[in-house]
Amino acid sequence: MKAAVILKEGKEKSLAIRHPWVLSGAVKGVKGQPGKGDLVRVVDHKGNTLGWGFYNPISPIPVRLVSWGNASVSPDFWKEAIDKAVSSREFLEKDPSTNAYRLVYSESDGLPGLIVDRFGDFLVLQTLNPGMECLKRQIADYLMERLPIKGILEKNDSDVRQREGLPIQTTRLTNGPVPDSTEIVENGFLFDVDLAKGQKTGFYLDQRENRAVTARYAEGKVVLDAFSYTGAFSVYTAGRGAAALVRVDTSQDALDRGRQNLALNKLSHLSDEPIRGNVFQVLRKFRDMGRNFDMVILDPPKLAATKAQRDKAARGYKDINLLALKLLNPGGILATFSCSGGIDAATFERILSWAAKDARREVRILHRLFQGPDHPVLLSFPEAAYLKGLLCQVA
Ligand code: SAH
Repeated sequence: MKAAVILKEGKEKSLAIRHPWVLSGAVKGVKGQPGKGDLVRVVDHKGNTLGWGFYNPISPIPVRLVSWGNASVSPDFWKEAIDKAVSSREFLEKDPSTNAYRLVYSESDGLPGLIVDRFGDFLVLQTLNPGMECLKRQIADYLMERLPIKGILEKNDSDVRQREGLPIQTTRLTNGPVPDSTEIVENGFLFDVDLAKGQKTGFYLDQRENRAVTARYAEGKVVLDAFSYTGAFSVYTAGRGAAALVRVDTSQDALDRGRQNLALNKLSHLSDEPIRGNVFQVLRKFRDMGRNFDMVILDPPKLAATKAQRDKAARGYKDINLLALKLLNPGGILATFSCSGGIDAATFERILSWAAKDARREVRILHRLFQGPDHPVLLSFPEAAYLKGLLCQVA
């Protein structure tokens, strides 16, 4: 029998409903001497096999399951999972107006710790635990064989890797060249994506659908795109007839690329005011100046990674949403988002209601928003749901 991780009595319950994580507190003992990244059997306290997963003794999640039940995992299990993930994105592959989307989303696709984003002819890949790390070359070769792409960049700069004892690195994984940046099309809009140095894998693909919904309300509006990054919401709203743009971000590189993206879409004629600054301060300045907008987009970075940081994050969200509501003209639109795993959709809605009360504005929700369908959420793994948004109209 291969190495096994034995669970404490009662700790088999979450696995029985196919939650893929074994937390360190659930482990009674380890049989054999499994190495970091090995596939191990997971057994209950009576010795019954529950499933198989990647082992990492130093992780707070020492096993991540890749299969359930007794049957051992075939060495090529990941090929089948990749095939499934790729075919479930076929509707995007066939959509001529979009060529950038998430191809593999970790646990949601049965491949814990593997993220693969497609940007046209290139893929950006991340491996976030030692088990996936061991497979990355084989996976890259298979993706090259399976898809009409030219190259794969490994962008392993996520701090999640440090917790798993893995180094931070960005390298080319395949023989083909990978340029520093590439042009993509999303819902018919063009973007120049910085693959090598951009944030995350280069572009926030999870907001694709939400940008389209938000842009439906943009015609004739003066738009404040706060936390604009490379101006994706700006391009969409400008493309749907916004009257003027104000973009705020702390990154000058991102603001400059936003300008390029407006130009790529032939939207340079529009009034565009890029502001390098801290949104928390810029919104206060606008309030003090009495400057108003018809649409405010708030898409901040993660303010709470864990439940422990929730209170501080809640104060941050309330602060910016309160300020944004005050800046809106009557009838104005607020598109507000949170990508913090520690803040669920109900909590986010409650935070907005506190902000509305203090701002003395009547707010109607027009759309409850979520991450796009290329970032699916397994019912048995709700942790994968991190992005939530509310598109609201202010009286
Ligand atoms: N809306 C963007 C994604 C935003 S990501 C899109 O659709 O592509 C969050 C952005 O907020 C990053 O570009 C980051 O540089 C910026 N940022 C982080 N903290 C900030 C702050 N306090 N003030 C302004 N920008 C900030």
